[in-house]
Amino acid sequence: MDNILVIAQIFDGQVKKSTNSAVTFASRVGSFIGGSYSIMALGDDLSGQTPHLSRLGAQRVILAEAPGLDQALAERWVPIIEQVVRKGSYKVVVSPSSSTGKDVLPRLAQHLEAGMASDVMDVSYEGDKLNYVRPMYAGNLNSTVQIPTEVEVVTVRQTEFDPFEAVAQESPVEMIEVPPPPEVLERIEFNDFEKSISERPDLPDAQVVVSGGRGLKSGENFKIIEELAELFGGAVGATRAAVDAGFIHNDFQVGQTGKIVAPELYIAVGLSGALQHVAGMKSSKVIVAINKDEEAPIFQVADYGIVADLFKAVPELIEEVKKLM
Ligand SMILES: Cc1cc2nc3c(=O)[nH]c(=O)nc-3n(C[C@H](O)[C@H](O)[C@H](O)COP(=O)(O)OP(=O)(O)OC[C@H]3O[C@@H](n4cnc5c(N)ncnc54)[C@H](O)[C@@H]3O)c2cc1C
Repeated sequence: MDNILVIAQIFDGQVKKSTNSAVTFASRVGSFIGGSYSIMALGDDLSGQTPHLSRLGAQRVILAEAPGLDQALAERWVPIIEQVVRKGSYKVVVSPSSSTGKDVLPRLAQHLEAGMASDVMDVSYEGDKLNYVRPMYAGNLNSTVQIPTEVEVVTVRQTEFDPFEAVAQESPVEMIEVPPPPEVLERIEFNDFEKSISERPDLPDAQVVVSGGRGLKSGENFKIIEELAELFGGAVGATRAAVDAGFIHNDFQVGQTGKIVAPELYIAVGLSGALQHVAGMKSSKVIVAINKDEEAPIFQVADYGIVADLFKAVPELIEEVKKLM
């Protein structure tokens, strides 16, 4: 019996890696409560994504295809997911904690009158109840919560669950009938999606992230951050202060109100380490900080620190890394 439903994240024709992390969560929950998970995907035409989805160990892959579903608008998706959840016997509905997940799942929870835990970082099972660990107060505290409703709605942090590895056996694929759009859709119009085009990996998927802060002083100076990131095949990140100052687009913001990352290596350059920034990168495996102020809070979370002027230290670091290549 499938009692866990994973809502897949598809962007630009690709199943996002975060879907595989949500599947890892679902398989762990399945091992606790018994039963199995299914994966649901919504889009205009999902034929390109079905091979990926069908190799994620699900009991079944449920596809909802209709024009306009590529744009993951909560108002369009929720009535369709709700129908599937109500017809099934789902105990847990999960999606990655991406902007889509953050938009769709709270509305779904409200429709189902279900409790919800967002940004879940860990899950355990005790006395017949699932315990979800999630951050509070900008990550200063981790709380363990239980959801008392029949259906439990959850978004999970990609950085905390390793992506599920594809399996050889294919899951059966089921196409569902999409109900007619609700009247509310007449009030909603999709205008445009501004995509940032970059050769570099997405921030949450990158193995190396080099982030710059206000200490960079200008957008032009961010070039040294880009150069360093490039050497590692990594992604560029930024603080909110750097974004607000117009040095870089807010797509690159790391932190409580930006992207959550946990790369193998995080290099923090000219940023102080405010708790709202640290909330988005503290799970990184190795943290290197470059700051001219030895009292900067970033050194409290850093594994390696360089107290220096970044405009001297970063070019030197670039040269040293080049020598090793
Ligand atoms: C509700 C809320 C949400 C927020 N969300 C986020 C978020 O998601 N992400 C985020 O980043 N922030 C967030 N913030 C803002 C956060 O509180 C900080 O203001 C911000 O992170 C500071 O950015 P910064 O470290 O670049 O700037 P600063 O704090 O000004 O630090 C600049 C650092 O650069 C160093 N420096 C300067 N020149 C040099 C140089 N030449 N060489 C070396 N070092 C140098 C300085 O010593 C200093 O430590 C949020 C704030 C609020 C209230």
